Amino acid sequence: MTTKERLRKLLEDNRGKYVSGEEIASSLKISRTAVWKAIRALREDGYEIDAVRNRGYRLPEETDVMSAEGIRHYMADGVRSGKLRNDNGQDSGPDAIIRETDLRFERVVTSTNTLLKDLAAAGAKEGTILAAAEQTAGKGRVGRSFYSPEGTGVYLSILLRPENYDASRASRFTTMAAVAACEAIEEIGDKPALIKWVNDVYVGGRKVVGILTEASLDLESGFLDYAVLGIGFNVYEPEGGFPEEIRDRAGAILTQRSPDAKNRLAAAFIRRFMDYYGEEKAFTAEGTEGEKDCSASLSYIQKYRGRSFVVGKDIDVLEGGRRTPATALAVDEQCRLIVRYGDGREEALSAGEVSIRVPAD
Ligand code: ATP
Repeated sequence: MTTKERLRKLLEDNRGKYVSGEEIASSLKISRTAVWKAIRALREDGYEIDAVRNRGYRLPEETDVMSAEGIRHYMADGVRSGKLRNDNGQDSGPDAIIRETDLRFERVVTSTNTLLKDLAAAGAKEGTILAAAEQTAGKGRVGRSFYSPEGTGVYLSILLRPENYDASRASRFTTMAAVAACEAIEEIGDKPALIKWVNDVYVGGRKVVGILTEASLDLESGFLDYAVLGIGFNVYEPEGGFPEEIRDRAGAILTQRSPDAKNRLAAAFIRRFMDYYGEEKAFTAEGTEGEKDCSASLSYIQKYRGRSFVVGKDIDVLEGGRRTPATALAVDEQCRLIVRYGDGREEALSAGEVSIRVPAD
């Protein structure tokens, strides 16, 4: 651990309490100048450290700064306490979840998906995760952008390399992520999270999450080479609000600062997502024949359908510049949206280039 990381841990262990410069220097076995330098480095990382003459330094109780160590801490902690355990019967334990993943954190990136795809092309292994506190070029579906300002959100991507995995199933990762995101949101906040088909999560009628799965396939086998699952959460509303273009739709998960909410959210999401992913891999390893019937038994599919808030609503289907009114009838066992148009025609929509709008969206 670097001096900065050791200091961060010391202040974390004493969160809300002052620790004198002298105590820090003696417990970390460093000079007072080194303490001061490390404090400055932490501040540059976004930590708002209180400093009071004759009392020392303090990390305020409500501190909420993302870090790899912070996320890992809650990944292990959540599993130990049973809080992050899924009800699909899998319990891989704190060590396994840490072992399965290789978590990296950068304060600012262009796009976690873009950088992770580069790492994937260079041979990074399954479970490599890149998290960031800000994206300068966050991506949405079909060339759209995802607004990812500094300090108020969680942006992360996970690299997946399932073996012999049919590329046509890659949209499943979006499905699992939507469910895992809803559950993680409900773990840190007190409002229910719902899914707007196909890849958006809503809290209080506003979009708080965007998900983008990008896949690279092996053309010869039709199997997936790798997939990168990217997700962005609006944890807090940015100072000055969301930009004009998304002000009517975008919202935040929390209205008030909550200690370590971002690390807790990221940890809960990763843990839950990896559990669903494990379930999916076990399912496909058994063969997907007769899939139509048994996919419905997958826990994340059931949960996705249960959290879909568009069913029963009048919606607009947006495709290729056209906007067609329809009624959303159901989300089927393959997570397609079944809609009925005004002329009585029914269609099963798959993700692709289709978007939908619900009233007041
Ligand atoms: P849509 O949400 O329009 O149906 P989509 O699901 O394909 O489309 P995403 O890829 O999830 O969209 O995200 C990009 C879109 O989401 C943008 O076009 C913009 O309308 C909206 N958006 C961008 N940034 C944010 C944000 N931080 N929070 C909420 N919504 C956002």
